[in-house]
Amino acid sequence: MPAAQIGVTGLAVMGRNLARNFARHGYTVAVHNRSVERMHSLIAEHGDEGEFVACETLEDFVGALARPRTVVVMVKAGGPTDAVIDQLTELLEPGDIVVDAGNALYTDTMRREKTLAARGLHFVGSGVSGGEEGALLGPSIMPGGPAESYATLGPMLEAIAAKAEDGTPCCTHVGPDGAGHFVKMVHNGIEYADMQLIGEAYDLLRQGLGLTPARIADIFAEWNRGDLQSYLIEITAEVLRQTDARTGAALVDVIKDQAGQKGTGRWTVKSALDLGVPVTGIAEATFARAISSQTAQREAARGVLPGATVEFAVADEAAFIEDVRLALYASKVVAYAQGFDQIRAASDEFGWDIALGDMARIWRAGCIIRARFLDRITEAFTRDAGLPTLLVDLYFAAEVAGGVPAWRRVVSQAALTGIPAPAFASSLAYYDSLRAERLPAALIQGQRDFFGAHTYQRIDVEGTFHTEWSGDRTEVEA
Ligand code: NDP
Repeated sequence: MPAAQIGVTGLAVMGRNLARNFARHGYTVAVHNRSVERMHSLIAEHGDEGEFVACETLEDFVGALARPRTVVVMVKAGGPTDAVIDQLTELLEPGDIVVDAGNALYTDTMRREKTLAARGLHFVGSGVSGGEEGALLGPSIMPGGPAESYATLGPMLEAIAAKAEDGTPCCTHVGPDGAGHFVKMVHNGIEYADMQLIGEAYDLLRQGLGLTPARIADIFAEWNRGDLQSYLIEITAEVLRQTDARTGAALVDVIKDQAGQKGTGRWTVKSALDLGVPVTGIAEATFARAISSQTAQREAARGVLPGATVEFAVADEAAFIEDVRLALYASKVVAYAQGFDQIRAASDEFGWDIALGDMARIWRAGCIIRARFLDRITEAFTRDAGLPTLLVDLYFAAEVAGGVPAWRRVVSQAALTGIPAPAFASSLAYYDSLRAERLPAALIQGQRDFFGAHTYQRIDVEGTFHTEWSGDRTEVEA
């Protein structure tokens, strides 16, 4: 058996399928798992798919790899990943590459890279999106870490990555240290926003217009043929069309309305707060999941708080459906614009030099947010890499402007009739805040100066000023 070109340790759903994907692409893959049964079952069930080297111990695993060694760690995020990396560090040699392909928090990745770099090892934190199926058939891969490691690792990752329609692999070197995991985190944040916006569109058609899930499935399937074409819209139609075998009702009607979360949305919002980037779409989506799970508060509120007194009524059903489509599209552009702002802010903060257009390019296939309009985002950043916000790109500005009247009608209709649409509403408020000539921030500066002498700047004179609020209220230069 030749020395393995790559090793995968951690053979649960993701690692197992990644290992198979490498083997199917002609690589000899060393495979290892803490409990050996998983490793043996992989060999027994899929050993004929390519060249695997079965390793019962981590020592055997490291010994089976060609030098410099490339090891992919695909174990439970957090403590288990640290434990496995620590064990590997004792066995590996300078120049070897350790890839953490799990869902790590980017600050953990930055810490791990520092530790491993001090020992001469290359550490690559890599985002992998696409779930179990993507890992096998082609995920979107977002590797960070040192650029030189990409020379060895890149061709292997690009071979197993999803391919966009034009044949290009959905994988590129994102940037050094934690850049890959950061971009994966924001990808997940955008995914939260996208799902919430779709949920709100559904709710308006369901609660507002009173359409059946099957009819709404048809509408989503129709939308999937246009600008909104995306994996999430496609699967929404599938979910809405599903009938529950037990009751004969639409499955969506028998699922508890409490959304779970594993934490990447929360991570994205926390990081955005630290970086000072408003990601209102992602934040609303994360909070909306939290509200859905506040069963005690919801139960108490239902019995006490009055709803709207305005009946939902529209003159033209088809026109309202089109309004919702336009509102969804415009809100989605806002969510992506905010996510890209966050990536840029982190790139500036940490000196990662991330090419924003490339991130949209590697999300075009394999990942959960794959969508037709990512091509347009790549084009926008190719036209102008320094675009202040995606919303001012000529294409997107025109697209969103075309939908603004519809967006306003939908948000006001939702508010009037008591249908919660937090992500639609806050995306529109963000849009209006960006384009406003004057914001009430001027008043806030006045208040801050009043109670805390925090000072302010004037529109007409350079300098920093303070008003003597508790004295004679004259203005002094601070
Ligand atoms: P899990 O997150 O369920 O982790 C299980 C794996 O971790 C098993 O191989 C297990 O070994 C191993 N493990 C746990 N603790 C230890 C330890 N202390 N020492 C050694 N090995 C340990 O597996 P998944 O395949 O779902 O995910 C793997 C990684 O990929 C995670 O970081 C996850 O967040 C990420 N990810 C998952 C996606 C998904 O759709 N599931 C999508 C994208 C990323 P054992 O068999 O011995 O228990």
